[in-house]
Amino acid sequence: MSASTATAPPATAPAVANPTPAAASAAAAAPAATKDKAETIDPESEHFVVSQNYVTRTVENMTMLPPVTWSNLLQNIQWISFTALTVPPAMAIYGLCTLELQRKTVIWAIVYYFMTGLGITAGYHRLWAHRAYNASAPLQYFLALCGAGSVQGSIKWWSRGHRAHHRYTDTKLDPYSAHEGFWWAHVGWMLVKPRGKIGVADISDLSRNPVVKWQHNNYVMLMVLMGLVFPTLVAGLGWGDWKGGLLFAGAARLVFVHHSTFCVNSLAHWLGETPFDNKHTPKDHFITALVTVGEGYHNFHHQFPMDFRNAIKWYQYDPTKWFIWTMSNVGLASHLKKFPDNEIKKGQYTMKLQMLQEQSGSIQWPKHSNDLPVISWEDFQAEAKERSLVAIHGFIHDCSSFLEDHPGGIHLIKKAIGTDATTAFFGGVYDHSNAAHNLLAMMRVGILDGGMEVESLKLENLQRSMSVSSMESDAASSASSVSVSSISPRWPH
Ligand SMILES: [Zn+2]
Ligand SMILES: [Zn+2]
Repeated sequence: MSASTATAPPATAPAVANPTPAAASAAAAAPAATKDKAETIDPESEHFVVSQNYVTRTVENMTMLPPVTWSNLLQNIQWISFTALTVPPAMAIYGLCTLELQRKTVIWAIVYYFMTGLGITAGYHRLWAHRAYNASAPLQYFLALCGAGSVQGSIKWWSRGHRAHHRYTDTKLDPYSAHEGFWWAHVGWMLVKPRGKIGVADISDLSRNPVVKWQHNNYVMLMVLMGLVFPTLVAGLGWGDWKGGLLFAGAARLVFVHHSTFCVNSLAHWLGETPFDNKHTPKDHFITALVTVGEGYHNFHHQFPMDFRNAIKWYQYDPTKWFIWTMSNVGLASHLKKFPDNEIKKGQYTMKLQMLQEQSGSIQWPKHSNDLPVISWEDFQAEAKERSLVAIHGFIHDCSSFLEDHPGGIHLIKKAIGTDATTAFFGGVYDHSNAAHNLLAMMRVGILDGGMEVESLKLENLQRSMSVSSMESDAASSASSVSVSSISPRWPH
């Protein structure tokens, strides 16, 4: 363990209950991947069986704190996070009630919102938590400073929690599991002490990074400087609006940046579509992208976390991706990672296929030929005197309920009753549409023995010269166009 990992967690970080050093050393000492696949011998069967997975085993052996109730709420509040999340909104409201908004200050607050937002999205998230690209030292310092201005803990603490979120999504080891509810995922997990420990995640790469180390060791100073002092100085020295700088560009802007990031944990796991995978809760939605500086294509992101993009289509809103791309074009970033298109398409294809299967299940399909009775030509004609039966392509159809609805007129069907109308249906009179073919198939009530009238006549000749048993065998094999299960006439009643 390096010296830097032993430093105290940042002041605003709710990591107090999840000591990073312990988790980091645990990750190094016992890689979860090998434990996940641990095999044991089942004493009864003496076969190898895969034991419980890492998450189940860890959760079972974990000491969980009792649920938070009104009576134990005060003892469970994480006061540092609580202060960081409640004082800025109070300051912003005070500012709105006592100050006049200056146009320049509003513009500066919006600009600084995007700067500090990018510190989180392009810096903390895509650069450090996911290593989606390489950044030059100046860009790293810029992002580390802007990220500190968003007051969300140090890069190291933030990334450690986020890596656990990806690795144990939706489980008890996920620090902000969406299964614990929208508000828990949004802010609850920071306001009260975690009920258990979060899952291990390796951050040894971050422990070696000089910018990350520098930011972690000086976090409290950088947080105050970039969170409140810097935005105040710009507005104060720039156009004399000291109070507006503090309360609007500082505090109010901070509230927006906070909840923008929190929406990635709550809204992005709650609202939208799952075009790449639906095993877990992450979803894609334009509104989430809009309020999170482009982190709204979260379903894609959880599937391809090391991709520098969240949005893969050019028209989708992802200013973080545009920023990283611009930085690479001016030489400040490089090695922008993209998952191969082929792998992305696999996910999309699988989800489309699943959707089609679900749709298919809700559609009524025609009866399979194996489920229909095989009827002789004579029986078909006899039955056709009772109801409107028409033979087409070896199948017998009951058109009784369709006579009035036939687009070509009732007389055409009436003429076909008791006959083989295959030729007429397949273009002899009218070349029917696919929809007509589908509809006709739904009217199937039997299979014509031998497939058509002519085949039946042939059978009559055979009957004269062959025994009944051999005749049955020949009749079954002569049914070339349909699947015949029996030649005994069996009308369903
Ligand atoms: Zn997520
Ligand atoms: Zn992520």
